[in-house]
Amino acid sequence: MDKHHILIVEDEEKIAALQRDYLLQAGFDVSELHDGTGAAAHIVEAAPDLVILDLMLPGEDGLTICRRVRETSNVPIIMVTARVDEIDRLLGLELGADDYLCKPFSPRELVLRVKAILRRGSSEVQSEGGGHRYGALVLDPERHCCDCHGQRLDLTPVEFRLLQALLERPGRVLSRQQLMDVAYQDHRVVSDRTIDSHMRNLRQKLAEASDDERELIRSVYGVGYAMA
Ligand code: CA
Repeated sequence: MDKHHILIVEDEEKIAALQRDYLLQAGFDVSELHDGTGAAAHIVEAAPDLVILDLMLPGEDGLTICRRVRETSNVPIIMVTARVDEIDRLLGLELGADDYLCKPFSPRELVLRVKAILRRGSSEVQSEGGGHRYGALVLDPERHCCDCHGQRLDLTPVEFRLLQALLERPGRVLSRQQLMDVAYQDHRVVSDRTIDSHMRNLRQKLAEASDDERELIRSVYGVGYAMA
């Protein structure tokens, strides 16, 4: 199989070099850009398998680049920021990035995230006629039911909406705020912990119905949740 091509967009060349070395060691092809100017067009043209995109760049910033790329391309993007509190804001902008990393991060962590995203390509959510299939999981919003391995899941309306929201944005991390907005359409004010407790129950029900050891929904520390 051909090597996956990873494109690093990072203006701090030392950081870029560190990322590059670890990714090369992990068996990827790697190229680098050190400036935001023209990066979006380059990404679309070069069509890498994954992009590691720094937020603060000279020329065009990561936010604008991500938006531009998403107009024409679904290439997986890992957004890199220098501040953890910025991730929530970025999530709120619905940029369409696939994952977020906060500096400083270990290159090992980066390699793990890259591999996880590339692996996901083979177990994607298939959506058809409003319904979604994800492995053994089938969710039908029209009939308001959800099956796992042919077994009907007994989900509460809130759990159903949470699962639907995650399935509609496969692989994307949703913040607690975004999940609250879909779960409580009457705009009732609830706390983060309420969402966590609904998610805990939902994950428990999925784990019981699935014979897969792998968790279907992953929790992203300090940020929110995503389909695994
Ligand atoms: Ca930077």
